[in-house]
Amino acid sequence: MIGTVYLVGAGPGDPGLITVRGLAVLRGADVVVHDHLVPRALLAEAKPGAEIVYAGKRAADHIMRQARINELLVERALAGLAVCRLKGGDPFVFGRGGEEALHLAEHGVPFEIVPGVTAAVGVPAYAGIPVTHRAFCASVSISTGHEDPEKDGSDIDWTGLAGPKKTVVFYMGVRNLASIAAKLTEAGLAGDTPAALVHRGATAQQRTAVGTLATIARIAETEKFEPPCLIVVGEVVRLREKLAWFENRPLFGRSVVLTRPRERGGLLKDALASRGAHVIEFPTIRIVPPEDGAPLRDAAARVDEFYGLIVTSASAVEPFFEALLATGRDARALAGLLVAAVGPATAEALRARGIVPDLLPEKAHAESLAQALASRGGLAGKRFLFPQGDLAGDALARALEAEGASVTGVVAYRNIPEAWNGRAVAALFEERTPDAVVFTSPSTARNLAACLGTERYERWKSSPCVFASIGPRNDAGDEGVGAARRP
Ligand code: SAH
Repeated sequence: MIGTVYLVGAGPGDPGLITVRGLAVLRGADVVVHDHLVPRALLAEAKPGAEIVYAGKRAADHIMRQARINELLVERALAGLAVCRLKGGDPFVFGRGGEEALHLAEHGVPFEIVPGVTAAVGVPAYAGIPVTHRAFCASVSISTGHEDPEKDGSDIDWTGLAGPKKTVVFYMGVRNLASIAAKLTEAGLAGDTPAALVHRGATAQQRTAVGTLATIARIAETEKFEPPCLIVVGEVVRLREKLAWFENRPLFGRSVVLTRPRERGGLLKDALASRGAHVIEFPTIRIVPPEDGAPLRDAAARVDEFYGLIVTSASAVEPFFEALLATGRDARALAGLLVAAVGPATAEALRARGIVPDLLPEKAHAESLAQALASRGGLAGKRFLFPQGDLAGDALARALEAEGASVTGVVAYRNIPEAWNGRAVAALFEERTPDAVVFTSPSTARNLAACLGTERYERWKSSPCVFASIGPRNDAGDEGVGAARRP
């Protein structure tokens, strides 16, 4: 059977701006062919084993002419594969999506178009510029700025663009900015018409310059604006003064790498992202079941023989309850037990299983739990079951044993190093060093060098990049992302 080619818009920069449909297609694709401007973080959404092809036009060693891209799409579809052709912004707006779709149609290859947020709309929005506002304009036009305005017989209707109450947006125009401004002025637009230039909008590298038609080219030159840039001309640019929201957030422009397993990144990721940080998920460990599940099942089968259950990680919750269910029992088996937990995520995972912890120390670490339990007194002879990770230390058990209790530790999950290949790492970080790396357990820190590769790891270490951690075993303060130390 012939596969389908999906021409998917990836949005202008923020990976969150891909559509629901686009993400579903990307996740299901066997082959992903992406352009240079596609947010790299999206590539991590491709399924394991998917072929990732860079069809960017900038890297000298990977130049793929349009004809070759067209051929590749057809080849892979004829091989029966689902192909996601991921393009920056919208596939049909200055993206050659039309050419690719025509080629597919001519070869009888089924295709689907998944529109995206185009730069002309998404980028000004992130710069605080609404492309229309009824007080200032009645129309907006989008235009290529790539065409040399000095060439004979321009395809652009400069007089049409230059009318009053119009917003004009140019793609690919930064190198021609002086002549674009000159053409618009010549066509009758006042020299003091506001103009803005946005470089890499909707990303952590967003930079915006505001001037007028008369000044913007000089500003671009002195402030060294390079492609990709979007140009916005019109009175709406003035609104930015009040509406610039993205660049004003406290962590704007900072990139933060999260090393915890992906499915657990949620809360911290959202907290950082909502303050404007560019969050890069780079899991260095993966949580997998124990090699032998029998000890956990045996322990779960006789859980009611214990006085208490200790859970210090959300990762232990699911395997423990699965083991309990496998023995034909359910949460009622814990009815008489004291359930002691560490950390809000652990408590949340327990709640999802119908258990509200009896004890949840304010400080999210095992030592606080030991203290809280010890301060209750009367632990002599009490037995605790502690489903834990394979790398868990024995400090908690020892502290309780010192009070006369006994602790039965049983491995509920294992931490294994995440396997990253060099190309995926390079695509994720390109040549930039992040501003911070966050560790959430000792193993996330331990595996960083192996996942990054020695050369990149050394580069990060000798850069001003902050290594931050949560939990005292990683040497952090109580604020979580606070204290810094090299792993
Ligand atoms: N299909 C894309 C446009 C591709 S042409 C879309 O719909 O957005 C490439 C041009 O788009 C760049 O030269 C630049 O002018 C603009 N562009 C794309 N992403 C941008 C971004 N994040 N910031 C500024 N300009 C961007």
